[in-house]
Amino acid sequence: MFTIKVDEITEEGLDLEWEEDHPSIMAFLKNFSQIDFDLEEPLRTKARVWKAGQSVVIQATVQTVLQLHCVRCLKEFPYPLSSALNLTLLPSKKAPHEEEVELKEEEMESTFFEGGEIRLSEIACEQIFLDLPYQPLCDEACKGLCPVCGKDLNLSNCDCTPDELESGFSVLKKLRLN
Ligand SMILES: [Zn+2]
Ligand SMILES: [Zn+2]
Repeated sequence: MFTIKVDEITEEGLDLEWEEDHPSIMAFLKNFSQIDFDLEEPLRTKARVWKAGQSVVIQATVQTVLQLHCVRCLKEFPYPLSSALNLTLLPSKKAPHEEEVELKEEEMESTFFEGGEIRLSEIACEQIFLDLPYQPLCDEACKGLCPVCGKDLNLSNCDCTPDELESGFSVLKKLRLN
């Protein structure tokens, strides 16, 4: 995990670039175990970090290709992701009175850092979670699986009648008749 000490950040700023693969961010991803995805390509981050008074400003772009599961047909599909973040971190002990108002006007997110260290990897990972689609689809037009026979309707149609498709209980009814 990539971290930076607040003392190392100058007012002129630092240009940073780093890459992380799946194993190196696994520990952090475990905290989000309910989210089902994989990294197909390393997570690449380009960031500019600088000090503005007591706070630290981070402007970064996070890029990767994720592997997601389609909620309709359950297939895995690649999901290219490129996300920009604009973050202002304030020291945790300082109350963000005046500064907060200023930040809201600029529509920037603000959060806090603790212990003189900024965990840049975590910030990059969190950005992925913010940009994950709530209901991933391999394609907007994905037909999904037949609720009766389970066939992938993107590949071929099945012989189930519209009647059966409308009622998920049809399988049960048939079983009872037999
Ligand atoms: Zn699909
Ligand atoms: Zn079917």
